[in-house]
Amino acid sequence: MEMNHINNIDFAKRLQTLEGEVPFDALQRLNALLAMDGVNAQSKIKYQLVGQIQKYQLPSLHLYIDASLPMLCQRCLESMQIPIKLQFDYVISAEMPESLDAIDDMDWVEASVDMDLQALIEDELLIALPIAPVHASLCKQLKFETGEKVNPFSVLKSLKKD
Ligand SMILES: [Zn+2]
Repeated sequence: MEMNHINNIDFAKRLQTLEGEVPFDALQRLNALLAMDGVNAQSKIKYQLVGQIQKYQLPSLHLYIDASLPMLCQRCLESMQIPIKLQFDYVISAEMPESLDAIDDMDWVEASVDMDLQALIEDELLIALPIAPVHASLCKQLKFETGEKVNPFSVLKSLKKD
């Protein structure tokens, strides 16, 4: 089911659930920071949105994002997939509740009959993106170079010459 704009209070009160995948094309601001050439079968932006009223005694939304985004490794400049998993609880109200600061794990969204879900997902991913991602283990290219440098045979050869 594709639905980008929701009546968020209504969604919460009806305890609705929505899940799907956002196409990369839809998120222009995010795309500008990604290595779009590196989009492959692993790349994804999946979400699940759950309406609830019990958790904070107020209409609220639980958003779960499971993404894998192509970015350039800042060491070797090859594209890599960055996994990002995020979860949020948003209380919905017309104004930001004053007590919000006291509760760390809770966020807030403005009550709206036309909340843009894709924009919300995009905002959260933009905040979560690593600034300078690098391959977790050695980069392919660097592994190769390091391998040449510590080749034990070339070290032996140079010792014999001396
Ligand atoms: Zn790398």
